[in-house]
Amino acid sequence: MTLRNTKQKKIIMDVLRCSDHPTASELYAAVREENPSISRGTVFRVLSQFAQNGEILKLSFADSPARFDARLCAHAHARCIYCGKVFDVFDDELSPAFEKRRAGEFEIYSASLEFSGCCPDCKA
Ligand SMILES: [Zn+2]
Ligand SMILES: [Zn+2]
Repeated sequence: MTLRNTKQKKIIMDVLRCSDHPTASELYAAVREENPSISRGTVFRVLSQFAQNGEILKLSFADSPARFDARLCAHAHARCIYCGKVFDVFDDELSPAFEKRRAGEFEIYSASLEFSGCCPDCKA
């Protein structure tokens, strides 16, 4: 049982690493191509475990399902308001915001920064 779990977790993590900020449903579809025996419930459960353990990022957006990201390095996201695609933003000027560990008396555990706008595809 545990061994099977470990194997399934590895598949889910591997697929996430090759994906571009998928939703849980998108990731489930991709995982099924690798291994049709993994259930939807398992994928959703493993994703939330990974997110809780800080092994992946869970990106929550107000008006769409959460997306998942295996890149843990400090980066911001830009989301296209037309197609919903999420892009990574690496910018040295933003890095200090992610390194901040305190804001006054407040202890900071994590930071997320999201830009919204129009992606190159939708602009074309
Ligand atoms: Zn777009
Ligand atoms: Zn990202």
